[in-house]
Amino acid sequence: MKVLKFGGTSVGSAQRIKNVAALVRDGEQKIVVLSAMSGTTNSLVEISKALYNNDEKAAAEVISNLYQKYVIVVDELYSNDQSKQKGHLLITNHFNYLKSFKAADFSVADEKAILAQGELISTALMHYYLEEQGVKSALLPALNYMVIDEDGEPILSNIEIAIKTEMEKLAADTELFITQGFICRNPKGEIDNLQRGGSDYSASLVGAAILASEIQIWTDIDGMHNNDPRIVENTKPIANLSFDEAAELAYFGAKILHPTSVLPAKLRQIPVRLLNTLDPEAYGTCISTQTERNKIKAVAAKDGITAIKIKSGRMLLAYGFLRKVFEIFEQHKTPIDMVTTSEVGVSLTIDNNKNLDKILEQLNDYGTVTVDTDQVIVCVVGDFSIENTGFVHNITHALADIPVRMISYGGSMYNISVVINAKDKVKALNVLSAQLFE
Ligand code: ASP
Ligand code: MG
Repeated sequence: MKVLKFGGTSVGSAQRIKNVAALVRDGEQKIVVLSAMSGTTNSLVEISKALYNNDEKAAAEVISNLYQKYVIVVDELYSNDQSKQKGHLLITNHFNYLKSFKAADFSVADEKAILAQGELISTALMHYYLEEQGVKSALLPALNYMVIDEDGEPILSNIEIAIKTEMEKLAADTELFITQGFICRNPKGEIDNLQRGGSDYSASLVGAAILASEIQIWTDIDGMHNNDPRIVENTKPIANLSFDEAAELAYFGAKILHPTSVLPAKLRQIPVRLLNTLDPEAYGTCISTQTERNKIKAVAAKDGITAIKIKSGRMLLAYGFLRKVFEIFEQHKTPIDMVTTSEVGVSLTIDNNKNLDKILEQLNDYGTVTVDTDQVIVCVVGDFSIENTGFVHNITHALADIPVRMISYGGSMYNISVVINAKDKVKALNVLSAQLFE
């Protein structure tokens, strides 16, 4: 069975809900995971914020504006009176629930219950619509199977058992199981969630739990591109990526899929397809254990990088030097991204300058420190197995005219990264695409 997940924009209006319905009803049994309609979760966050701030009036206003939107959706979505009535009753119930929260003693548990309403509404709206269309659809309640532990980590073994039990409760000839992304229960049995944007994670967990043949993440773009389409012309969707290659790209703003959300799929080796609702026939991007070897897949860039060099004779033949340097960054809760070393120096990059002054003050005790701000990491992802000679050459060859501040290779078999000045980024991305993909 396949698991298909549609994000907020894909179900963002009555028309788009209809489009998704048309796309999923092909007679094949599947699980459909939905986010809240776009904008809804943000509004629910606002309602909670207002209640924390003791501002019941502001909360009521957001609730009423959001309700008006749903009234229009219900009117546009259904064609017969019976479904319209069901739809109106549904939203009335959920909005009455939202209105029942008071500012006094407003708690985190209340907030989580509020945040869950978006997915509960979108899935029910879809289910009623499918029913109206004569499709055998059933709601599969995520709150009955999606569970997390004290640290907020999903417990796959429990999810696996519970989702099967829930599915068995439903009619055997159910064609479409409609379920909520994002929401879950914590060990206290309270409503909780998998963090903002968590519905991709839900889909991956559901897919892993039922050992799906494929997990499809549907958005409005045709998969991950092999370079930044805003900067380079004629970029193409990457057809196939390995889980490791996808993880390398994630740091570079390939926001389309968070690395933790692919973990359950990776664990059970279930292919994850990124597909486009606006072009459903397109191949998109497939992330799996099967990938084309000996190939460079993508170029990506990360802005706002600061490169720091610490040069010290004390590093020569010494031990513990790097630990002391790294500890300073740890003390100031600043992640280090890239590292290169020489015998007497180390260069590293950070993308968060908040505590830079304090870090530099302490680093000065260990050697001569040089700082370059306005840097960019350009990363090339692909199969960099050692025997694949020529790839490194192709990259440095393409960058022949561009001053390179750092190079990192060998950290994994899937990536080579260079640090350059921000002003050279556009040129670098273009020459790399020309050299590697044309
Ligand atoms: N509705 C949730 C959010 O907006 C979850 C999701 O869309 O992935 O964060
Ligand atoms: Mg989303």
